[in-house]
Amino acid sequence: MVSGRLVPVIGCRCGIAPPSLLLAVAERGDAAARDAALRTLLTSAALRSRRATLSVTLRRFGLSPADVAFLPAQAPAAGPDNTVYDVAGGDEAALPGRRVRGTTDPPSGDPAVDEAFDGAASTAAFYREVFGRDSIDGRGLDLVSSVHFGQRYDNAFWNGDQMVYGDGGGGVFVAGGLTRSPDVIAHELTHGVTQFSAGLAYRGQSGALNESFSDVFGALVTQRARGQDARAASWLIGEGILEPSLGRALRSMIAPGTAYAGDDQPADMDAYVDLPADDDPRNDDGGVHVNSGIPNRAFAEAARTLGGRAWETVGPVWYEVLTGGRLRPTADFAACAALTVTVAGERYGEGSAQQDAVRGGWEAVKVRLPADPR
Ligand SMILES: [Zn+2]
Repeated sequence: MVSGRLVPVIGCRCGIAPPSLLLAVAERGDAAARDAALRTLLTSAALRSRRATLSVTLRRFGLSPADVAFLPAQAPAAGPDNTVYDVAGGDEAALPGRRVRGTTDPPSGDPAVDEAFDGAASTAAFYREVFGRDSIDGRGLDLVSSVHFGQRYDNAFWNGDQMVYGDGGGGVFVAGGLTRSPDVIAHELTHGVTQFSAGLAYRGQSGALNESFSDVFGALVTQRARGQDARAASWLIGEGILEPSLGRALRSMIAPGTAYAGDDQPADMDAYVDLPADDDPRNDDGGVHVNSGIPNRAFAEAARTLGGRAWETVGPVWYEVLTGGRLRPTADFAACAALTVTVAGERYGEGSAQQDAVRGGWEAVKVRLPADPR
Protein backbone atom coordinates (compact mmCIF):
# COMPACT_ATOMS: atom_id res chain seq x y z
CA MET A 1 0.00 0.00 0.00
CA VAL A 2 1.14 3.52 -0.72
CA SER A 3 1.67 5.77 2.25
CA GLY A 4 1.60 9.53 2.31
CA ARG A 5 -0.91 12.05 1.11
CA LEU A 6 -3.56 10.85 -1.27
CA VAL A 7 -3.83 12.81 -4.50
CA PRO A 8 -7.18 14.66 -4.30
CA VAL A 9 -9.97 12.98 -6.19
CA ILE A 10 -11.78 15.49 -8.37
CA GLY A 11 -15.56 15.73 -7.90
CA CYS A 12 -17.89 14.19 -10.43
CA ARG A 13 -20.87 16.16 -11.76
CA CYS A 14 -22.90 12.99 -11.92
CA GLY A 15 -22.52 12.04 -8.26
CA ILE A 16 -23.83 13.68 -5.14
CA ALA A 17 -21.33 12.23 -2.67
CA PRO A 18 -18.10 14.17 -2.46
CA PRO A 19 -15.07 12.00 -3.20
CA SER A 20 -13.47 13.05 0.07
CA LEU A 21 -16.36 11.44 1.89
CA LEU A 22 -16.11 8.26 -0.16
CA LEU A 23 -12.42 8.14 0.58
CA ALA A 24 -12.97 8.60 4.29
CA VAL A 25 -15.50 5.76 4.30
CA ALA A 26 -13.22 3.56 2.26
CA GLU A 27 -10.41 4.15 4.72
CA ARG A 28 -12.26 3.98 8.01
CA GLY A 29 -15.53 2.10 7.41
CA ASP A 30 -16.22 -1.57 8.02
CA ALA A 31 -15.61 -4.12 5.28
CA ALA A 32 -18.98 -3.70 3.56
CA ALA A 33 -18.84 0.09 3.64
CA ARG A 34 -15.27 0.05 2.44
CA ASP A 35 -16.14 -2.12 -0.53
CA ALA A 36 -19.15 0.00 -1.50
CA ALA A 37 -17.24 3.27 -1.24
CA LEU A 38 -14.29 1.89 -3.16
CA ARG A 39 -16.57 0.58 -5.86
CA THR A 40 -18.15 4.01 -6.26
CA LEU A 41 -14.84 5.81 -6.29
CA LEU A 42 -13.24 3.48 -8.76
CA THR A 43 -16.25 3.27 -11.04
CA SER A 44 -16.57 7.03 -11.31
CA ALA A 45 -12.87 7.34 -11.89
CA ALA A 46 -13.14 4.77 -14.66
CA LEU A 47 -16.24 6.34 -16.18
CA ARG A 48 -14.55 9.69 -16.39
CA SER A 49 -11.41 8.09 -17.77
CA ARG A 50 -9.60 9.37 -14.72
CA ARG A 51 -6.99 6.70 -15.11
CA ALA A 52 -4.47 8.35 -12.84
CA THR A 53 -7.12 8.59 -10.12
CA LEU A 54 -8.02 4.98 -10.68
CA SER A 55 -4.48 3.70 -10.30
CA VAL A 56 -3.71 5.97 -7.33
CA THR A 57 -6.80 4.64 -5.58
CA LEU A 58 -5.94 1.03 -6.39
CA ARG A 59 -2.48 1.43 -4.95
CA ARG A 60 -3.76 3.30 -1.92
CA PHE A 61 -5.78 0.22 -0.98
CA GLY A 62 -3.26 -2.35 -2.13
CA LEU A 63 -5.50 -3.66 -4.93
CA SER A 64 -4.58 -4.92 -8.36
CA PRO A 65 -6.64 -4.36 -11.53
CA ALA A 66 -7.79 -7.98 -11.21
CA ASP A 67 -9.49 -7.07 -7.92
CA VAL A 68 -11.78 -4.59 -9.65
CA ALA A 69 -13.28 -6.77 -12.34
CA PHE A 70 -16.61 -5.04 -11.70
CA LEU A 71 -15.36 -1.91 -13.46
CA PRO A 72 -16.97 -1.10 -16.79
CA ALA A 73 -15.11 -2.49 -19.75
CA GLN A 74 -14.45 0.87 -21.37
CA ALA A 75 -12.07 1.92 -18.62
CA PRO A 76 -9.36 -0.66 -19.32
CA ALA A 77 -9.91 -0.18 -23.06
CA ALA A 78 -9.00 3.47 -22.80
CA GLY A 79 -5.33 4.32 -23.05
CA PRO A 80 -3.21 7.20 -21.90
CA ASP A 81 -3.02 10.36 -23.96
CA ASN A 82 -0.73 9.87 -26.93
CA THR A 83 0.82 12.90 -28.63
CA VAL A 84 3.43 13.12 -31.37
CA TYR A 85 5.53 16.19 -32.11
CA ASP A 86 7.78 17.12 -35.04
CA VAL A 87 11.10 18.54 -33.85
CA ALA A 88 12.02 19.24 -37.51
CA GLY A 89 15.71 18.40 -37.37
CA GLY A 90 16.25 20.16 -34.06
CA ASP A 91 18.28 18.89 -31.13
CA GLU A 92 17.41 18.34 -27.48
CA ALA A 93 16.94 22.05 -26.83
CA ALA A 94 14.14 22.03 -29.42
CA LEU A 95 12.17 19.16 -27.87
CA PRO A 96 9.37 18.33 -28.05
CA GLY A 97 8.79 20.47 -31.18
CA ARG A 98 5.55 21.26 -33.00
CA ARG A 99 2.50 19.23 -31.99
CA VAL A 100 1.30 17.24 -35.01
CA ARG A 101 -1.02 14.52 -33.77
CA GLY A 102 -2.99 14.08 -30.55
CA THR A 103 -4.83 11.14 -29.05
CA THR A 104 -8.05 11.47 -31.04
CA ASP A 105 -6.62 12.98 -34.22
CA PRO A 106 -6.67 11.12 -37.55
CA PRO A 107 -3.41 10.01 -39.18
CA SER A 108 -1.22 12.94 -40.15
CA GLY A 109 0.11 11.54 -43.41
CA ASP A 110 3.71 11.74 -42.16
CA PRO A 111 4.78 8.09 -41.78
CA ALA A 112 7.20 8.88 -38.93
CA VAL A 113 4.47 10.66 -36.97
CA ASP A 114 1.90 7.94 -37.59
CA GLU A 115 4.25 5.05 -36.88
CA ALA A 116 5.44 6.65 -33.64
CA PHE A 117 1.80 7.20 -32.68
CA ASP A 118 0.75 3.63 -33.50
CA GLY A 119 3.79 2.11 -31.80
CA ALA A 120 3.21 4.05 -28.59
CA ALA A 121 -0.47 3.11 -28.62
CA SER A 122 0.19 -0.58 -29.22
CA THR A 123 2.89 -0.70 -26.53
CA ALA A 124 0.57 0.92 -24.00
CA ALA A 125 -2.19 -1.51 -25.06
CA PHE A 126 0.17 -4.43 -24.53
CA TYR A 127 1.04 -3.38 -20.99
CA ARG A 128 -2.61 -2.63 -20.20
CA GLU A 129 -4.15 -5.76 -21.68
CA VAL A 130 -1.48 -8.29 -20.70
CA PHE A 131 -0.33 -6.98 -17.33
CA GLY A 132 -3.03 -4.50 -16.29
CA ARG A 133 -0.41 -1.73 -16.28
CA ASP A 134 -1.71 1.79 -16.77
CA SER A 135 0.82 3.33 -19.19
CA ILE A 136 4.56 3.57 -18.69
CA ASP A 137 4.54 4.64 -15.06
CA GLY A 138 1.55 2.53 -14.03
CA ARG A 139 -0.39 5.75 -13.37
CA GLY A 140 -1.60 6.81 -16.79
CA LEU A 141 1.41 8.86 -17.84
CA ASP A 142 0.80 10.70 -21.11
CA LEU A 143 2.82 9.27 -24.00
CA VAL A 144 4.89 11.91 -25.77
CA SER A 145 6.97 11.20 -28.87
CA SER A 146 9.05 13.49 -31.06
CA VAL A 147 10.10 12.52 -34.58
CA HIS A 148 12.60 13.96 -37.09
CA PHE A 149 15.18 14.52 -34.36
CA GLY A 150 18.57 15.82 -35.55
CA GLN A 151 20.05 15.41 -39.00
CA ARG A 152 20.11 11.83 -40.32
CA TYR A 153 20.23 10.88 -36.67
CA ASP A 154 20.75 7.14 -36.35
CA ASN A 155 19.13 6.45 -33.02
CA ALA A 156 15.94 6.50 -30.97
CA PHE A 157 15.83 7.05 -27.23
CA TRP A 158 13.75 7.57 -24.13
CA ASN A 159 15.06 10.72 -22.45
CA GLY A 160 13.40 10.19 -19.10
CA ASP A 161 10.27 12.07 -20.14
CA GLN A 162 9.49 11.14 -23.71
CA MET A 163 10.37 9.13 -26.82
CA VAL A 164 12.69 10.66 -29.41
CA TYR A 165 13.28 9.27 -32.91
CA GLY A 166 15.87 10.22 -35.48
CA ASP A 167 15.21 9.73 -39.18
CA GLY A 168 18.06 7.27 -39.71
CA GLY A 169 19.73 7.39 -43.10
CA GLY A 170 23.11 8.24 -41.57
CA GLY A 171 24.66 4.93 -42.55
CA VAL A 172 23.33 2.62 -39.84
CA PHE A 173 19.56 2.60 -40.22
CA VAL A 174 17.56 2.84 -43.41
CA ALA A 175 15.76 6.16 -43.70
CA GLY A 176 12.56 6.01 -41.69
CA GLY A 177 13.54 2.67 -40.15
CA LEU A 178 13.50 3.67 -36.51
CA THR A 179 9.77 4.28 -36.31
CA ARG A 180 8.97 1.35 -38.62
CA SER A 181 9.98 -1.30 -36.10
CA PRO A 182 7.38 -1.94 -33.37
CA ASP A 183 9.92 -3.71 -31.17
CA VAL A 184 12.22 -0.67 -31.26
CA ILE A 185 9.37 1.55 -30.11
CA ALA A 186 8.36 -0.92 -27.39
CA HIS A 187 12.02 -1.27 -26.39
CA GLU A 188 12.34 2.47 -25.83
CA LEU A 189 9.07 2.84 -23.97
CA THR A 190 10.03 -0.09 -21.75
CA HIS A 191 13.01 1.96 -20.60
CA GLY A 192 10.32 4.22 -19.16
CA VAL A 193 8.65 1.24 -17.45
CA THR A 194 12.01 0.26 -15.94
CA GLN A 195 12.66 3.85 -14.84
CA PHE A 196 9.36 3.86 -12.94
CA SER A 197 9.76 0.34 -11.48
CA ALA A 198 13.05 -1.46 -10.75
CA GLY A 199 15.09 1.61 -11.76
CA LEU A 200 18.01 -0.55 -12.92
CA ALA A 201 21.21 1.52 -12.91
CA TYR A 202 22.44 2.02 -16.48
CA ARG A 203 25.94 0.58 -16.13
CA GLY A 204 27.54 -2.84 -16.01
CA GLN A 205 25.30 -5.85 -15.37
CA SER A 206 22.34 -3.86 -14.00
CA GLY A 207 22.53 -1.73 -17.15
CA ALA A 208 22.66 -4.84 -19.34
CA LEU A 209 19.56 -6.10 -17.51
CA ASN A 210 17.92 -2.72 -18.16
CA GLU A 211 18.68 -3.16 -21.87
CA SER A 212 17.52 -6.77 -21.81
CA PHE A 213 14.13 -6.06 -20.22
CA SER A 214 13.55 -3.55 -23.04
CA ASP A 215 14.40 -6.17 -25.67
CA VAL A 216 12.26 -8.82 -23.94
CA PHE A 217 9.13 -6.68 -23.87
CA GLY A 218 9.95 -5.23 -27.29
CA ALA A 219 9.96 -8.75 -28.70
CA LEU A 220 6.78 -9.68 -26.82
CA VAL A 221 4.86 -6.65 -28.15
CA THR A 222 5.78 -7.72 -31.68
CA GLN A 223 5.07 -11.42 -31.12
CA ARG A 224 1.67 -10.66 -29.62
CA ALA A 225 0.79 -8.30 -32.47
CA ARG A 226 1.67 -11.09 -34.92
CA GLY A 227 0.05 -13.86 -32.84
CA GLN A 228 3.38 -15.71 -32.91
CA ASP A 229 4.34 -18.85 -31.06
CA ALA A 230 7.66 -18.60 -29.17
CA ARG A 231 9.06 -21.37 -31.36
CA ALA A 232 8.09 -19.59 -34.58
CA ALA A 233 9.29 -16.11 -33.57
CA SER A 234 12.54 -14.73 -34.99
CA TRP A 235 13.65 -13.25 -31.65
CA LEU A 236 15.26 -10.46 -33.69
CA ILE A 237 15.11 -6.86 -32.47
CA GLY A 238 14.87 -4.23 -35.20
CA GLU A 239 14.55 -6.70 -38.04
CA GLY A 240 14.97 -5.11 -41.46
CA ILE A 241 15.79 -1.59 -40.31
CA LEU A 242 19.59 -1.68 -40.63
CA GLU A 243 21.29 -0.76 -43.87
CA PRO A 244 21.14 -4.14 -45.64
CA SER A 245 24.93 -4.23 -46.06
CA LEU A 246 25.30 -4.24 -42.27
CA GLY A 247 22.98 -7.13 -41.47
CA ARG A 248 19.45 -8.28 -40.83
CA ALA A 249 18.70 -6.82 -37.38
CA LEU A 250 20.08 -4.94 -34.38
CA ARG A 251 20.14 -7.92 -32.05
CA SER A 252 19.26 -11.59 -31.99
CA MET A 253 17.91 -12.70 -28.64
CA ILE A 254 18.14 -16.41 -29.41
CA ALA A 255 21.59 -16.26 -31.08
CA PRO A 256 23.39 -13.20 -29.67
CA GLY A 257 26.29 -12.06 -31.83
CA THR A 258 24.71 -13.05 -35.15
CA ALA A 259 22.43 -10.12 -35.99
CA TYR A 260 24.89 -8.09 -38.08
CA ALA A 261 28.52 -8.07 -39.16
CA GLY A 262 30.49 -7.03 -36.09
CA ASP A 263 27.73 -7.92 -33.62
CA ASP A 264 29.77 -8.35 -30.43
CA GLN A 265 27.11 -9.78 -28.12
CA PRO A 266 28.23 -12.83 -26.13
CA ALA A 267 25.89 -15.83 -26.04
CA ASP A 268 26.86 -16.94 -22.52
CA MET A 269 28.94 -16.01 -19.47
CA ASP A 270 32.06 -17.71 -20.84
CA ALA A 271 32.23 -14.91 -23.42
CA TYR A 272 31.16 -12.11 -21.03
CA VAL A 273 32.78 -8.83 -22.06
CA ASP A 274 34.22 -6.96 -19.08
CA LEU A 275 34.21 -3.26 -19.97
CA PRO A 276 34.74 -0.29 -17.64
CA ALA A 277 31.65 1.78 -16.91
CA ASP A 278 33.30 5.08 -17.81
CA ASP A 279 32.45 7.93 -20.17
CA ASP A 280 34.18 6.42 -23.19
CA PRO A 281 31.33 5.60 -25.58
CA ARG A 282 33.22 2.57 -26.85
CA ASN A 283 32.81 1.03 -23.43
CA ASP A 284 29.02 1.32 -23.66
CA ASP A 285 28.52 2.12 -19.94
CA GLY A 286 30.21 -1.13 -19.10
CA GLY A 287 28.80 -3.15 -21.98
CA VAL A 288 25.08 -2.56 -21.46
CA HIS A 289 24.26 -3.26 -25.13
CA VAL A 290 26.88 -6.01 -25.30
CA ASN A 291 26.24 -8.32 -22.35
CA SER A 292 22.46 -7.85 -22.58
CA GLY A 293 22.67 -10.74 -25.04
CA ILE A 294 23.14 -13.09 -22.09
CA PRO A 295 19.86 -12.39 -20.23
CA ASN A 296 18.13 -11.95 -23.61
CA ARG A 297 19.03 -15.49 -24.58
CA ALA A 298 18.05 -16.86 -21.15
CA PHE A 299 14.54 -15.49 -21.73
CA ALA A 300 14.29 -16.67 -25.34
CA GLU A 301 15.51 -20.18 -24.46
CA ALA A 302 13.00 -20.49 -21.62
CA ALA A 303 10.18 -19.26 -23.86
CA ARG A 304 11.13 -21.61 -26.69
CA THR A 305 11.32 -24.56 -24.31
CA LEU A 306 7.74 -23.94 -23.22
CA GLY A 307 6.41 -22.94 -26.65
CA GLY A 308 3.10 -21.10 -26.99
CA ARG A 309 2.59 -17.42 -26.28
CA ALA A 310 5.70 -16.12 -24.56
CA TRP A 311 3.81 -13.08 -23.22
CA GLU A 312 1.61 -15.51 -21.28
CA THR A 313 4.29 -17.99 -20.18
CA VAL A 314 7.67 -16.49 -19.26
CA GLY A 315 6.66 -12.87 -19.93
CA PRO A 316 4.61 -12.54 -16.72
CA VAL A 317 7.56 -13.87 -14.70
CA TRP A 318 9.91 -11.25 -16.13
CA TYR A 319 7.24 -8.56 -15.67
CA GLU A 320 6.82 -9.43 -11.98
CA VAL A 321 10.59 -9.40 -11.52
CA LEU A 322 10.87 -5.97 -13.16
CA THR A 323 7.92 -4.31 -11.44
CA GLY A 324 7.30 -6.28 -8.24
CA GLY A 325 9.62 -4.29 -6.00
CA ARG A 326 12.14 -7.05 -5.30
CA LEU A 327 14.75 -6.42 -8.00
CA ARG A 328 17.34 -3.95 -6.69
CA PRO A 329 18.57 -1.09 -8.92
CA THR A 330 22.10 -2.53 -8.79
CA ALA A 331 21.07 -6.16 -9.37
CA ASP A 332 23.50 -8.34 -11.30
CA PHE A 333 22.63 -11.25 -13.62
CA ALA A 334 22.79 -13.83 -10.82
CA ALA A 335 20.41 -11.86 -8.60
CA CYS A 336 17.95 -11.37 -11.46
CA ALA A 337 18.19 -15.04 -12.44
CA ALA A 338 17.53 -16.23 -8.89
CA LEU A 339 14.50 -13.94 -8.66
CA THR A 340 13.03 -15.22 -11.93
CA VAL A 341 13.28 -18.79 -10.61
CA THR A 342 11.60 -17.73 -7.35
CA VAL A 343 8.81 -15.89 -9.16
CA ALA A 344 8.25 -18.76 -11.61
CA GLY A 345 7.85 -21.04 -8.58
CA GLU A 346 5.36 -18.67 -6.97
CA ARG A 347 3.35 -18.27 -10.13
CA TYR A 348 3.40 -21.80 -11.54
CA GLY A 349 4.55 -23.96 -8.61
CA GLU A 350 7.88 -25.26 -7.37
CA GLY A 351 9.20 -27.82 -9.84
CA SER A 352 6.67 -26.77 -12.51
CA ALA A 353 7.57 -27.02 -16.19
CA GLN A 354 7.64 -23.23 -16.31
CA GLN A 355 10.08 -22.98 -13.42
CA ASP A 356 12.26 -25.67 -14.98
CA ALA A 357 12.25 -23.79 -18.29
CA VAL A 358 13.33 -20.56 -16.59
CA ARG A 359 16.08 -22.39 -14.75
CA GLY A 360 17.13 -24.04 -18.02
CA GLY A 361 17.30 -20.67 -19.77
CA TRP A 362 19.84 -19.35 -17.27
CA GLU A 363 21.76 -22.61 -17.32
CA ALA A 364 22.03 -22.34 -21.11
CA VAL A 365 23.81 -19.00 -20.74
CA LYS A 366 25.90 -20.23 -17.78
CA VAL A 367 24.61 -17.78 -15.19
CA ARG A 368 25.07 -19.36 -11.78
CA LEU A 369 21.80 -20.13 -9.96
CA PRO A 370 21.16 -21.05 -6.34
CA ALA A 371 21.15 -24.84 -5.95
CA ASP A 372 17.92 -26.57 -6.93
CA PRO A 373 16.44 -27.77 -3.60
CA ARG A 374 15.07 -30.96 -5.23
ZN1 LIG B 1 17.83 0.53 -24.95
